[in-house]
Amino acid sequence: MAMDLNKLREKGLEYVEMGKNAAIDLTEKGKTQAKILNNQAKLMRAQRQLGALVYSLAKGNEENQPLVDKYIDIIGSIEQEIAQLKASLTPAEAAEVESIDPEEGSPEDVMEQQEPQAEPSGTCCPQCGAPVDGDALFCNRCGAQL
Ligand SMILES: [Zn+2]
Repeated sequence: MAMDLNKLREKGLEYVEMGKNAAIDLTEKGKTQAKILNNQAKLMRAQRQLGALVYSLAKGNEENQPLVDKYIDIIGSIEQEIAQLKASLTPAEAAEVESIDPEEGSPEDVMEQQEPQAEPSGTCCPQCGAPVDGDALFCNRCGAQL
């Protein structure tokens, strides 16, 4: 027999291995992109919370610089993480991520659908028990990380 079965089998295994590696690359890439999207959503929440905090402080003519600083710190570190994750992607993959709107499909920001603010979200600060917004990263009263 001229057919070299061992050679053939080797080739076959090679292809299987290649296929496996391609699949791993794909999931790794997908994971990084998912992480970026996660972080972008987190970033938006933090920015929104900071905005709400600054607004309520200004409105009440109060100051809480340590808490504002905490938000600025966390926003900075999320931005850094996004930059690092993006650096590990190719420009095409990064552009793919850019094209996805992390807020897509969440109607919570549509002004017309704003719920009356009568009921609190039911979350309380584990440190001081103050009622906190469901999106809040820190307690507005004691500054504990939530
Ligand atoms: Zn608290």
